[in-house]
Amino acid sequence: MAREARAQPAGSGREWVGWMSTKFPLEIPAALGLTVFCPESAAAAASCRGESSALCQAAEEMGYCRDLCSYVRMGMALAAGQTAGGPPRPDFLLCCNNICSGMLQWYRALARTLDIPLFLLDFPYQEDREPSPSLVAYLRAQITEVVRGLEELTGRRWDPLRFQEVCRQANRSAQAWQRVMDAALASPSPLGNMELFDYMPLMVTGRCAKETEQQLEALAGKLQSRAVRPGGSPKRRIFWEGTPCWPALDRVVDLLDRKNVQIVADTLTPSLGFRYEDLDGLIRAYCGTINGVSLERGLEMRTELCRRYRVEGILVHYNRSCRPWCGALQETERRLGRELEVPVVSFHGDQGDPEAFSAAQFELRLDTLCELMDQKS
Ligand code: SF4
Repeated sequence: MAREARAQPAGSGREWVGWMSTKFPLEIPAALGLTVFCPESAAAAASCRGESSALCQAAEEMGYCRDLCSYVRMGMALAAGQTAGGPPRPDFLLCCNNICSGMLQWYRALARTLDIPLFLLDFPYQEDREPSPSLVAYLRAQITEVVRGLEELTGRRWDPLRFQEVCRQANRSAQAWQRVMDAALASPSPLGNMELFDYMPLMVTGRCAKETEQQLEALAGKLQSRAVRPGGSPKRRIFWEGTPCWPALDRVVDLLDRKNVQIVADTLTPSLGFRYEDLDGLIRAYCGTINGVSLERGLEMRTELCRRYRVEGILVHYNRSCRPWCGALQETERRLGRELEVPVVSFHGDQGDPEAFSAAQFELRLDTLCELMDQKS
């Protein structure tokens, strides 16, 4: 995986380090020049390195049960310093519940364990397509409070001009990210299976940095030159629903490649392309994460993605860890299949716990999807 980037430091003084949930508005710590790490990205990276079993085990020994999300378990073990490769110990925590409510309990446990302040943004569940003015005002007030709290803790001063600057940079990175994702519009896509996920940590904690935009632009250029190379047999284009099974990543990629299947769109990567004009726009963008919106809106977003990237089949990962996401998946599967008239097949696994993934089951389900896709073509 690409190395996790940091928010750009600004000004002098000691370095303040925070841990941040994936979809917390990075623009806030970035404008204050605070360094942030994302424990979910750290847990995913640890899983890719084959460390997740040991971390989950360590968390269980600390009293965190197996039924908890594996990111939560690994995050608690990382906070307790159970691995040398984890992020540095934080001075503060930034959390919001725009992807799951379990995140709040996790960060509260982190704050207790580490005895450090926790800054929360509460995103209420919204049925409407667009957040209401009162919801935007509720979040604006909370952001003001978080900024005040961070100023008090760190002694840094909030500069509205600096905030605008980091927002502009975040938007430029999001544009470059879109260019990278759009490489998959080509047929065959020049993006390798799961390749895009390698760059997600950059977008999570680095999208307010110029270097991220430059790195993504260079990647988009590289993909474009890969795309024009002639040859290669046609591939089956699929949508990947859910988080990858990080501990089994090589096995999954190998099976997808061998069966001539290409992931051309997914649920996670587009959700990091926040685009907006001003603070209210930023709030609306962070309210609109694909796994944090209503079922109807989530279906619309998936349908748009599948149509845009000309998807021929959908592979759904029932991620044992992520109950909030998986609860609506059966209805999502049924409705997507009917709306798009493409086969939808699911498998069971986990983003971090290797014991919850079966390569045999994955291969069998993938074969089924391929057969169904071939029958339709
Ligand atoms: S339950 Fe799902 S959304 Fe929540 S922390 Fe775990 S993986 Fe993330």
